[in-house]
Amino acid sequence: MRRNHRQSTKESSSSEPGATDPVTEPPTLAYCSGAADRITAEGPTVEFPAATFAKLRAYVSSCAVEIGGMGLVRVADGGLRLVVEDVFIVEQSVSAASTELSEEGISELLLALVEHGHDPAHLNLWWHSHARLSAFFSTTDVRTLQTSFPYADWVLGIVTNHRGELVTRLHVQRPLPLQLTNVPVALELAAALDADLLERIRAEIVQKMQPTNRAIAFGTAHTY
Ligand SMILES: [Zn+2]
Repeated sequence: MRRNHRQSTKESSSSEPGATDPVTEPPTLAYCSGAADRITAEGPTVEFPAATFAKLRAYVSSCAVEIGGMGLVRVADGGLRLVVEDVFIVEQSVSAASTELSEEGISELLLALVEHGHDPAHLNLWWHSHARLSAFFSTTDVRTLQTSFPYADWVLGIVTNHRGELVTRLHVQRPLPLQLTNVPVALELAAALDADLLERIRAEIVQKMQPTNRAIAFGTAHTY
């Protein structure tokens, strides 16, 4: 790092004033501070109320392969708490290692949210399960976060799996690009498994998974 600082400083001092176009050419900067003395602020925590987390676990554990969807996030306490208020699935095509949400399905979800009095602008969560694989953000996942939600000022990404691993990644797009990995998560755990919820979720999965993939969309019921 120090070597880079010196190089930057030297380049800055040796460039001739006016030799570059200040509009198209970014200025050469001399970096004089590093990570050791960077000022950091308290970051946000992702919060799952019990009902929301139970619903997410029901989706994930009821599906043998990848499954994904969106979710409503409420920003609380000046941005220190990102409260996941609900999670949804939409029509999607799935394979053992990928899932693709249909645009029609997302449109239907937006309409349904409006009909039920929700603000679609709060649809800032994109989540998916890696089923039996470990939970991490693949290159494809990061690209999806960066390119698939142009309407949103920010997107919270969550990857989870059957084992209950859960990783987060926050992509702020406006007013400036900022990426936060491994945002802490606080879970409110439900006391007991909700059998009715599992039944409803399984019926929804049958309805929204692409017909050609239904045969592989069912998993054994997990109890976590
Ligand atoms: Zn993934």
